[in-house]
This record gives sequence, structure tokens and C-alpha cells, in this order.
Amino acid sequence: MAHFELHRSKINSSNAAGNDVKKIILGLLVSASALASSNKDVPTMSGKNGYVEPFQMFDNVYYIGDKWVSSYAIDTDNGLVIIDTLDYPYSRWIPINLKKLGLAGKPITHILVTHGHSDHVGGAQLLQEMYGSKVVMTKSAHNLAIQQSNKSKGDHAFLPPALDIEIKNDSSMVINGHEFKFYLTPGHTEGDFSLDFTVEDKGIEYRAFVVGGHSVDGKDPKMIDQFLSSMEKIRKISLQPPIVKVNLSNHPHKNYLFENRDKLSTRGNPFISETNFFMFLKQQEHLAKKKIKPL
Ligand SMILES: [Zn+2]
Repeated sequence: MAHFELHRSKINSSNAAGNDVKKIILGLLVSASALASSNKDVPTMSGKNGYVEPFQMFDNVYYIGDKWVSSYAIDTDNGLVIIDTLDYPYSRWIPINLKKLGLAGKPITHILVTHGHSDHVGGAQLLQEMYGSKVVMTKSAHNLAIQQSNKSKGDHAFLPPALDIEIKNDSSMVINGHEFKFYLTPGHTEGDFSLDFTVEDKGIEYRAFVVGGHSVDGKDPKMIDQFLSSMEKIRKISLQPPIVKVNLSNHPHKNYLFENRDKLSTRGNPFISETNFFMFLKQQEHLAKKKIKPL
């Protein structure tokens, strides 16, 4: 109730008025029923289904994704920032994973969605409704999310999130005291953004990068060109000191996530590497160039 009052008074004091209040009331009713029905809608948490136990990668970074798609929780002083939200209904594992990690009491203030494909945006609306989070995307990614939502069916049917903060150009945003840099990196889709921010390992800061989309559709030469320019742009940015040493790719096989997880208990943090990120960029370029058909 307190949560509701807070939102309502905020809305009433702005000029948005009636419709927004209705939307919020509706949102609260839906989210109450979503919570009540959440158990039966949660896919079986088995390895066969792609479930992965969540784990801590850095002082302030947790893996909450599944076997195929990554989702990261960044712990800031005033709440969590979630990067990508999995395919629906597997997104329903995210709140459970946060609880397992002891993070359930923290609000999810922001959800950063790298692009509009369903395996990244599938849970954004669900989490937005449950936690009142702000969703951050490009307009083009949001349009794609709407198209993907319209095509989604059965158990995989999901709604697009509301777009709260639109990324229009390369920019920086301070979220809960933590700076995130956004770069437009089209190619995988038109609306991809990539992220550049700091993670901490035992109190020492490292620069981390999330490349917003991997691989490219071979049918469209223009997109391949865009993708290659985006990779080159990312390389230039990431080589500026201090160079990027943490590859937070948005699919786990691209940063050897599970292999590195298994090495976490031994010495050092295997997610810190001088070479992994740059090898990954090279591999992405190589794969994209292979798709260019000879004339
Ligand atoms: Zn994609």
C-alpha cells in the first residue's frame, strides 16, 4: 500500500494525471496476481530446461541468466541494475535467482535491454511490473520488442515493456551513483546498444563491456557492414586506458562463462583477462566476414 501511495502522489503532482493513475492501479493489480500465480508459471528449474544456479562474478556483479542467454545483476548502493531479461517464461527464474543470492530485498531500479530480440527483452515487462523498474532501450529496439511480442505464442507469449528511458546516442548515465556508458552499436539488429562500466573484484576496479548483440544475419550486406563498423568502434573505445578486461557478453558461451565459473574458487578471478574481450571481437568480425557472399 505504501508503495502505491508513493507512486500516486508522485503522479498527481505532475501533469500526467488520470490515465497514468489508472495504468498504475492496473499495473499493481496485475503484479499482485502475477506474484500470486508465479509458482505455477515458473518453468521447471532443471539443467535440461537450461536452468543455471546463479552466482557472484564480482563484488558487484551476479550472473542470473540461463544456459543460453546471459542476464546480469549489477549491485549499486541504491538497488539493482539488470542487464537483459531472458526469454519468457524463463525470465521468471530471475526473481528466484535474486532471492537465492540474498538480493531479494533490493529494488530493481533499472533494466537495460541491449536489443529487441525476445531472448533479451522477454522478461522486461514482467520485472518492470513487479519492481516498478525503469526500462532503458533504444527506440528501434523497443519497436522490435513490440514486433517480437506480437509474434510470441503460448507459454512464450510476453508483453513488451514500457520504454521509460530512450537511448538516442552515445551517452553516459549515472544510475544510483554508478556510471554506465551507452554506445549505439547497430548490426546484429538496428537498435543494439553496448555498455561500458566498472566492476570491482576485492575492491579493485576493472572496466567491463557488454557487446549488445552477437552474430549477424548473412542476408543483408548493409547490416554486415554496420556490424563490422560497430566492432571496430568498440575496439577503439575499449583500448583507451584503462583497457577493458572484463567481457560480459550477452550469451554465456561467448565469454566462457561456465568454464570460468568453475575456476572461480581457485586463485584470482578468471573473468579478468587482458585478451578475452579482444579475442571475442576478432571472432565476431571473422564470423561476420564469412557471411559476406562473394560477388
Ligand atoms: Zn539477438
